[in-house]
Amino acid sequence: MASRTILVTNDDGYLSEGIRTLAKAARGLGEVRVVAPDREQSATSHSLTLHNPLRVKQRGEGVQAVDGTPTDCVILALGALLEHRPDVVLSGINHGPNLGDDVLYSGTVAAAMEATILGVPAVAVSLADREEASMAAWGGVVARLLERLLRADLPKETLLNVNLPPVAPEQVAGVRVTTLGRREYVGSLTRAQDPNGREYFWIGGGESRWWGGPDSDFRAIHENFISVTPLHLDLTNFALLQDLSGWDLSL
Ligand code: MN
Repeated sequence: MASRTILVTNDDGYLSEGIRTLAKAARGLGEVRVVAPDREQSATSHSLTLHNPLRVKQRGEGVQAVDGTPTDCVILALGALLEHRPDVVLSGINHGPNLGDDVLYSGTVAAAMEATILGVPAVAVSLADREEASMAAWGGVVARLLERLLRADLPKETLLNVNLPPVAPEQVAGVRVTTLGRREYVGSLTRAQDPNGREYFWIGGGESRWWGGPDSDFRAIHENFISVTPLHLDLTNFALLQDLSGWDLSL
């Protein structure tokens, strides 16, 4: 097992408590290399830096910081920085949940998606709790969970999205395999005027509500379970494929 190479990245920056906890947990599973953004890059989704050069700085033994996005980090690590292709890419532990529709905005999940696109199995891990202090306590549970998740080969084009509930690790009810739930934000768009009387908009805050079946990721977290969702990269709506083929689209 110790021969496995593990790339660890995130979207909160290489200094975050979450990535340090994940790297520490991963050390029992193989040789760990950290390539992560040099600053917070949350909600950058799958963005790629094309119009600026990227710089890499050594930030300690096996730790490199990139002035780019999580996706940039994975591309640089696999294409240039690591001597060997890693056996697995771990992204996180994100400070905050990545559940349901939010996976589409998540830099944490995007890094795991990029690894999957490049053919390397990947797991994204997020803690559904904004409390900085609770992060380090999760190391043992995450190490045991990863050990189990990495026993089998993941199918192609598939990554695992793991969320940890906002309780102490010893209060976890168990591990549940889940589907993505749905999330709606209410009142999260603010329209106001700046001191010069010019209109501006601000996205964020407000209330959110979730829904989803009994097997949804939101419900698992709500009931203090660890949620493990297999995500597939193919967004094709196969149920609609046949129906759409029947439409007259001739121009
Ligand atoms: Mn983040």
